[in-house]
Amino acid sequence: MHDVLIIGAGPAGLAAALWCDELGLDTLVLEQSEAVGGQLLSIYNRIENYPAVIAENGSEFLALLSPKLESADFDLWTNTAIESVDLKAKRIALQSGEQLQAISLIIATGVRRRTLGIPGEMEFRERGILSSANKHRDELSGHDVCIVGGGDAALENALLLADVCATVTVVHRGRVLKARREFTEQLIAHHNITVFPESVLTRILGKEKVEAVEILRKDALKPFQMAVHDVLIRIGVEPNSELFKDQLKLNEQKYIVVNGAQETDVANVFAVGDVSNPLAPTISGATGAGATAAKVIASRLNSRR
Ligand SMILES: Cc1cc2nc3c(=O)[nH]c(=O)nc-3n(C[C@H](O)[C@H](O)[C@H](O)COP(=O)(O)OP(=O)(O)OC[C@H]3O[C@@H](n4cnc5c(N)ncnc54)[C@H](O)[C@@H]3O)c2cc1C
Repeated sequence: MHDVLIIGAGPAGLAAALWCDELGLDTLVLEQSEAVGGQLLSIYNRIENYPAVIAENGSEFLALLSPKLESADFDLWTNTAIESVDLKAKRIALQSGEQLQAISLIIATGVRRRTLGIPGEMEFRERGILSSANKHRDELSGHDVCIVGGGDAALENALLLADVCATVTVVHRGRVLKARREFTEQLIAHHNITVFPESVLTRILGKEKVEAVEILRKDALKPFQMAVHDVLIRIGVEPNSELFKDQLKLNEQKYIVVNGAQETDVANVFAVGDVSNPLAPTISGATGAGATAAKVIASRLNSRR
């Protein structure tokens, strides 16, 4: 029996674990991936909005955190696949057959990028379908790139790539772009950016790598093909909350609903970070929420002991 089981080792789960350790709680963190860090591992931009820390990218941010993680005394299991969770009983069954139990659970499973679910999308991953504009920017000189999405992430990337690419085509479903004005106003200055509103991508085509996309415009009877070298999909994120559905309260977008103590509607089950924060997902928000959950758990346990 552990004091605390934490699911997910992104910034929220790691911060919760560090605080649990500092507060003397017996803690085990379960991470499905090979490495800790969560979304930090896919940040290639400079992080300058975490108070008192500046890092060139997410890996550097994680490296700054590493000495603290190494000296802490909580257990961490990576490559760990969870089969099922019984939130009321605070019991977790692993795919390996092992059963774990705790007094409190902290869910810190974050979010994942939405996918289009169209032919070619999985097939051409990292073969023309870009994981990050920042990461690949230097390889894209003179390329024709298609960006899917009309929000901040799509437009920010379009502006970033317009400086190096031959053309950037933004395809989005809405009638108007959802991105903030700061980004949309800059479009005019970039003659190599074309925007297709009320349009969807229906296929990504190619042989060894991406060669073209198929675009269907609203009211058109047939899609048309456009030759591109690369595709970047930025159509938002969704919370990793499936494992817990039907056991706790989710909002309409499937984010976990919590109170000011980060507690869900199941007693002693907490949710921290992006999985419970649809409004302002940030590293500082995630680590702050992890700290809050750990401190609430510690004060409850101490009053019982
Ligand atoms: C490109 C990019 C740039 C960003 N730039 C900034 C920035 O400059 N400043 C800023 O403040 N924020 C930035 N963010 C956002 C920031 O990274 C997130 O807000 C933060 O990582 C959220 O932390 P988290 O721990 O809640 O979730 P995540 O980082 O998503 O971590 C969740 C962890 O849980 C694990 N997990 C999921 N399901 C399970 C399961 N069933 N079992 C076990 N483990 C599981 C995942 O593998 C992952 O390791 C950026 C994000 C991206 C993608």
